[in-house]
Amino acid sequence: ARSFAGKKVALFGLGGSGIATGRALMEGGAEVLCWDDNPESVARATEQGIPTGDLRGAEWGGLASFVLSPGVPLTHPKPHWTVELARGAGVEIIGDVELFARERTAQAPRAPFIAITGTNGKSTTTALTAHILKHAGRDTQMGGNIGRAVMTLEPIVEDRFYVVECSSYQIDLAPSINPTAGILLNLTPDHLDRHGTMQHYASIKERLVSGSDTAIVGVDDVYCAQIADRLEKAGKEVIRISKRLPLTDGYFADGTDIMEAIEGRYSRVGFLEGIGSLRGQHNAQNALAAIVACLKVGLDLGEIQSGLETFPGLAHRMEQVGRRDRVLFVNDSKATNADASAPALSSFPRIYWIAGGLPKEGGIEALRSFFPRIAKAYLIGEAAPAFAATLGEAVPYEISGTLAAAVEHAANDAAEDESAEAVVLLSPACASFDQFRNFEIRGEAFRAAVEALDDITPIGG
Ligand code: ADP
Repeated sequence: ARSFAGKKVALFGLGGSGIATGRALMEGGAEVLCWDDNPESVARATEQGIPTGDLRGAEWGGLASFVLSPGVPLTHPKPHWTVELARGAGVEIIGDVELFARERTAQAPRAPFIAITGTNGKSTTTALTAHILKHAGRDTQMGGNIGRAVMTLEPIVEDRFYVVECSSYQIDLAPSINPTAGILLNLTPDHLDRHGTMQHYASIKERLVSGSDTAIVGVDDVYCAQIADRLEKAGKEVIRISKRLPLTDGYFADGTDIMEAIEGRYSRVGFLEGIGSLRGQHNAQNALAAIVACLKVGLDLGEIQSGLETFPGLAHRMEQVGRRDRVLFVNDSKATNADASAPALSSFPRIYWIAGGLPKEGGIEALRSFFPRIAKAYLIGEAAPAFAATLGEAVPYEISGTLAAAVEHAANDAAEDESAEAVVLLSPACASFDQFRNFEIRGEAFRAAVEALDDITPIGG
């Protein structure tokens, strides 16, 4: 990071991304001092030539900045002492996205920079946007909260495109974030444990769009709608998107059609019909955001449509893994609670549903409105008896026990289904830890079981 050349910077958090961030600062000519409260991490960093030292004894007065590494987890009992020392010495506390933003401003302020936040859909929108750009032949770097830490991306130059997913935490530590296009997808009262009030949480997310040249805002929830109005009043360029409202100005989804509205006049600018990886209303919101951002950085509609049609989707999030005749197999292993299973259950009309694992509070009560779509449920793991009780008379079910048995039974039953398309869906509404190490391993086990079926045509993988 050349914008820090000659400056003294302290960094806390020496996981992989912390070490990479420290190295990027060093390579840019900064004098860095790095620390972690895990001695093993410190030892590993020292081995790799990163200057380390206990920040308690550091000369805080001489520091330009204190950087909290992207690897410092949100659940970390925040390194309060470092934060207190920094505050006491009047040293700014920033994160890696701030380093990135300053570097871009200093080195290549016209490098297209798309930043994405929201409560849900961040990773999908980030991956989709990066895919469209790459597919259109643009030199594209993707990172942030998804994939690589931003300071490990290729150096910032004017004709390179950056797509960066930002958590609230990263925005909070990036006071001068200034993307070309900032996307705020949605705000729902999640994560309040970390951020206190909804107002505080919303105000952090708002900063990403208020700092951007163009603010792209999903207006389907009241918090975001208010933010869009406020930014517009303040003179910012705001583009509204909606997955359900026919806006007067902005972009919206009309079924699978993507419409542009200018003063109440509509034209179709794209479509999602037949794009398996972008099924469901929630994905219409993600697609709208990606489309508008790509338009903003200079792509044409043809390039964008072609990118949409080739998007493979993200693993474990409504990921299509196989097909056999009229039966589609979908891996939604990332859905570790009932709310997270709702989008998948709402996206398919005829479902053979594999669910269960380590249950969360409330079980599947919140999913009752989707029960009519469920042809049969195949229950696994510790949650099976409780889920069976909730399904009761409303939905036929079996207690399959293991994922392998569930896939086999569901595949057999779905093969007999008469409807145009039946879906065998793993969307567990549960954590995985009773039977699997994590949701990724669970999703891979599902894919393997599907691919082992007779006459299956695998998709992706
Ligand atoms: P994030 O990165 O914000 O956690 P992801 O793109 O990884 O979001 O999607 C995680 C899950 O959130 C998906 O499997 C889906 O159930 C749900 N989801 C995705 N996009 C949206 C959206 N725009 N609105 C509401 N829920 C969404």
